[in-house]
Amino acid sequence: MKFLVCNAGSSTLKFSLFEAEREELLADGSIDWAAKPARLRWRRAAQVEVRAELTIERPDEAIARILHDLQSGPSAPLRDKDDVQAVGHRVVHGGPRYSAAVRITPDVKRTIGELSELAPLHNPASLECITVFERVLPGAAQVAAFDTAFHATLSEAARTYPVPRAWTRDWHVRRYGFHGLSHSYCAGRAAEMIGRKNLRLIIAHLGNGASMSAVRDGRCVDTSMGFTPLEGLMMGTRSGTVDPGLLIYLLRHKGLDADGLDRALNHESGLLGVSGVSSDMRQVLAAFPDNPEARLAVDIYVHRIRQTIGAMAATLGGVDGLVFTAGVGENSAEIRARVCADLGFLGLTMDQQANASRRPDADIASPASPARILVIGTREDLTIVRETRRLLGS
Ligand code: ADP
Repeated sequence: MKFLVCNAGSSTLKFSLFEAEREELLADGSIDWAAKPARLRWRRAAQVEVRAELTIERPDEAIARILHDLQSGPSAPLRDKDDVQAVGHRVVHGGPRYSAAVRITPDVKRTIGELSELAPLHNPASLECITVFERVLPGAAQVAAFDTAFHATLSEAARTYPVPRAWTRDWHVRRYGFHGLSHSYCAGRAAEMIGRKNLRLIIAHLGNGASMSAVRDGRCVDTSMGFTPLEGLMMGTRSGTVDPGLLIYLLRHKGLDADGLDRALNHESGLLGVSGVSSDMRQVLAAFPDNPEARLAVDIYVHRIRQTIGAMAATLGGVDGLVFTAGVGENSAEIRARVCADLGFLGLTMDQQANASRRPDADIASPASPARILVIGTREDLTIVRETRRLLGS
């Protein structure tokens, strides 16, 4: 069974082709048409990456090109495009309705469209991509896997904002949480690595966007992102949580409007806003030794993660494992070491040598540490393959 996994952004399309039963990745790549000319990069398993520049402006052209390339050449991973039995789409927002992946129907598409107001960059792109695949692969099952779904198990207390009841009731204002496909994968992988399922896990997904979740026995009980992916931790360009009173003050007294706040908090804050150097943690760390703003940016970043670990440990009543994943979490031994300093009181003691030298997936806690510290290479695409298989099997 061959499954294609698609992750559509406003001007990018990432894809991977799987032999689904063996969970074997046959090819993966991306097309970015924000750049002019558009850039294609992809590779077949164990082969060198192919890069090309294309005159592509729209997702349907990108998809036609991807399908063409997957079928061309002597070692083509697809003999015929109709070999693709299912296409699994990452959809950022599933709203209050979806707590698991679903087969895409006209009704599901309508709901994804209605939720565009909550995910304006992502849901419309997913919808467009779904519509193209329905046309070019009419025989393939289309499945939507939602980034919000893993957090559907949050208790009412954990998901409800203390705001007027009508906001919650009429406008569905609540905490949804995001990065669920990654948190879900890491929860499963951590259980495999530790060798049991009844676990209290804290998962830190630290990429350009960053979020944490608290997971008890495989079910998510808390998460740091909320109604939008702006809540919680400090990120590359996003502020994370700020006092809502600050927004009222800025609107009333400093001449900012909704668009100005959006731009500042989503695109000009976080590591970039504080350091003035970059949104890229590597560059901020490189500037750290003699740049006080870069130092402050890293200090805030780490402080917020540690604060959230404390809050989640309280929610869980203890910790059996702390997981680091995504760009910063998987690659930065320095950030991991700073986050884990003096967390022995929670049963988390890092092996400094293991932290500096081991590659994901690895346990970097000291052998005597009561709780494990894991570094896991996240696989959102595999979560989508598994969800798609589960749906097709049922
Ligand atoms: P996205 O959220 O876009 O999927 P990634 O998970 O790839 O992003 O994470 C990107 C972030 O990871 C960037 O801020 C980058 O600086 C950071 N990163 C990647 N490698 C390292 C490294 N070796 N040290 C520190 N940060 C790193």
